[in-house]
Amino acid sequence: MRRTTKSQQVARVLFSEAQLSAMVGRVAREIERDYRALGEPPVLLGVLNGSVVFLSDLMRALEIPCDVDFVAVQSYRGERSTGAPQLRLSPKTPLAGRHVLVVEDILDTGVTLSYLCREYLPQFDAASVKLCALLDKPSRRLPGAVCADYAGAVIPDLFVVGYGLDYDEAYRDLPYIGVLSGAPEHKE
Ligand code: 5GP
Ligand code: MG
Repeated sequence: MRRTTKSQQVARVLFSEAQLSAMVGRVAREIERDYRALGEPPVLLGVLNGSVVFLSDLMRALEIPCDVDFVAVQSYRGERSTGAPQLRLSPKTPLAGRHVLVVEDILDTGVTLSYLCREYLPQFDAASVKLCALLDKPSRRLPGAVCADYAGAVIPDLFVVGYGLDYDEAYRDLPYIGVLSGAPEHKE
């Protein structure tokens, strides 16, 4: 799907810049409250590429110190759902004994984050692992999959783009979150 302007093919705005900013602030206050009580700075572990915009706003909104690192996971979706997720980039920060907060753009079926939290991350012996997703789409969650400990908003079964979320690598640069007019899945 090619576009010539940033907003081309966005049917409607789901969350404006102002709403996203308020959402990030609210999540940051919850995280501060919990991690202040632990007394140790968390490691924010962003899941590339979708989490980068949310993570960069979240880390600046947090009024507690934190470290930042990244993982990349290859997920298979829709009709290409042929295998389990695979790790493409591992964190450089030693995670043993650290409080790890996985930061993701959206929690959908839960396959990606269940793999990260239950299969990949346990080898590092972190003190704790929690999940923070900007958006939570529980309608497509697989039975037994992980849940978000922190979520900016719960959304219905829509395919959303912007604020880091892509459609075939496009639309990540939109400053708001919108619903595409012609997305293949979850079409409006
Ligand atoms: P899950 O493994 O939970 O099904 O999906 C995780 C990944 O699928 C997300 O990190 C995101 O990259 C992608 N995804 C799921 N729903 C959406 C959506 O509505 N819009 C976009 N752009 N990506 C999505
Ligand atoms: Mg993602």
